[in-house]
Amino acid sequence: MSMPDAQDGAPVTDGAGSPAEAAGQRPVLVINAGSSSLKYQLVVAGSGTSLATGLIERIGLDEGRATHTVDGQGHVLEQEIPDHTAAFEVLTAQFRDHGPDLQEAAPVAIGHRVVHGGAKFASTVLIDDEVLKTLRRLVPLAPLHNPGNIAGIEVALETFPDLPQVAVFDTAFHQSMPPAAYTYAIPLSWRQTFNIRSYGFHGTSHSYVSRRTAELLGTPLEETNVVVLHLGNGASACAVEGGRSVDTSMGLSPLGGLVMGTRPGDLDPGLPAHMSRVSGMTLPEFDHALNKESGLKALAGSSDFREVMDLRDSGDPDAELAFDVVVHRLVRHLGALALVLGRLDAVAFTAGIGENSPELRAAVLGRAGLLGVELDEQANAGARGETRISTPDSAVAAFVVPTNEEWEIALEAARLLANH
Ligand code: ADP
Repeated sequence: MSMPDAQDGAPVTDGAGSPAEAAGQRPVLVINAGSSSLKYQLVVAGSGTSLATGLIERIGLDEGRATHTVDGQGHVLEQEIPDHTAAFEVLTAQFRDHGPDLQEAAPVAIGHRVVHGGAKFASTVLIDDEVLKTLRRLVPLAPLHNPGNIAGIEVALETFPDLPQVAVFDTAFHQSMPPAAYTYAIPLSWRQTFNIRSYGFHGTSHSYVSRRTAELLGTPLEETNVVVLHLGNGASACAVEGGRSVDTSMGLSPLGGLVMGTRPGDLDPGLPAHMSRVSGMTLPEFDHALNKESGLKALAGSSDFREVMDLRDSGDPDAELAFDVVVHRLVRHLGALALVLGRLDAVAFTAGIGENSPELRAAVLGRAGLLGVELDEQANAGARGETRISTPDSAVAAFVVPTNEEWEIALEAARLLANH
């Protein structure tokens, strides 16, 4: 099946009037449910056109807040939203009151983002009781993320019983990694009994961005090697060889690899035992500190990169060090992933920081001369949307490619339905 083109909006098609084309023309309701928030978007798979977006926050807390945006106009609702059932009531009310009418829009499916699919799910699946049971069994792999995803699925199944619902996994894109990349050098029984290995995350983003990068380069995806740097609150780097992930910086959990908003990335594996010995810290305390109190927050006092950059601009030495640590870690992973690929065609920056911080991109690429990347400083400084930020003569290209995980999830859902 041909890949969509983000520029001309070519549909997911394998022939006029085919099931794939029909599925590509209708919208998919994309749901990203967390423990206390629910993001949604009604998006046409074929064109990527977004018909409405929404964010429901503070689920289960005193004062909930829901924002529904249609045609650039936001509609805010503030009320208590005790659980995910109430969140879906708010979602349907927002569509009813502010449009588009869900009956008329007739979504072809609901696409759920699920963070961890373990080794069980190598691709998008239609959700049934068996899939739900497996998802519940996978909760220990992503205790902070999968329970919210599952709650969203359970309520969506009750709210929209007639719509096919599919799960799109952050981990699935990385199931193409070879054993040498995903195997940890740890006891066999851990690997066999508990499936301990590297899984990788942000797969929908790495998939979308690497495909768009090949399209921007004008080379066939199957022949294009890209390192994608997804730099948001969570961050990961991925080596994509011919459209397939062959290595990535995150591993078993979303804690590893790059420095993030509140997560540390790579650490010495001896740290938990050492902290326990010297401070009496318990494992749950350690887990909390690594998930919520580390990364930029620990180094510079804020998990928000923009705030860290403001502090750095004002001469704050902690923010200066935080920036340097972030850049150093990125350079180290970029170099390693380039060698894993053997030949590099492009580096792509995406997500909140990757798309919006010319300083960060310049600092990283300024140290990537060895790879053959030559930064175009003007293009980098003025980059808006999809932009080539390397010079025309640069041996390896560099791009800013805004990610679009919702569209990728909609495409995955439409493709799955078309093939059913
Ligand atoms: P999430 O992983 O939650 O989806 P995002 O991709 O939205 O996160 O990225 C959030 C990060 O992007 C934050 O650290 C934020 O400060 C940073 N960011 C957003 N806009 C800018 C900007 N203009 N300059 C620098 N950083 C930015």
